[in-house]
Amino acid sequence: MHHAHEADYADHKHPQVGVFSALALAGHSFMDGMGIGLGFQVSPATGLLVAIAVISHDFTDGMNTVTLMLNHKNTVRRSLKFLLLDALMPVIGAVSTLFFTVSPHFLIWYLGFFAGFLLYIGVSDILPEAHSKHSSFKLIGLTVLGTALIFVITRLV
Ligand SMILES: [Zn+2]
Repeated sequence: MHHAHEADYADHKHPQVGVFSALALAGHSFMDGMGIGLGFQVSPATGLLVAIAVISHDFTDGMNTVTLMLNHKNTVRRSLKFLLLDALMPVIGAVSTLFFTVSPHFLIWYLGFFAGFLLYIGVSDILPEAHSKHSSFKLIGLTVLGTALIFVITRLV
């Protein structure tokens, strides 16, 4: 998030940017929790798999929340409040799915999109190699190839 040319504008102070970024992450964490709950609507095994994936990456969501808050000159105390919010949102998101059910057809689309999007974020942003100068064209090409491959696989099965 918003890492380009950060050093060129040293010593800026926009605490509200940190707050909005942290709120965006909190919203994302709510969706993470909904993913867990909807996974359990499919089956206990699917719910457990989604929970393991979400909980293990949510540690970095928390670190990102604090980093964004502190980078934008928010206080440690305020950053911890947003960390708490970010930690609670997956639980609230998961609990929210106890109050509605969605059709199996929608679940297939939602969980497929959710898994694909997380994998895409993993390879396009989180892996250090994704930020090397020569990899952006290769990354886009491989993304298109991966999408085509999955499309072909789903047509064959
Ligand atoms: Zn997340």
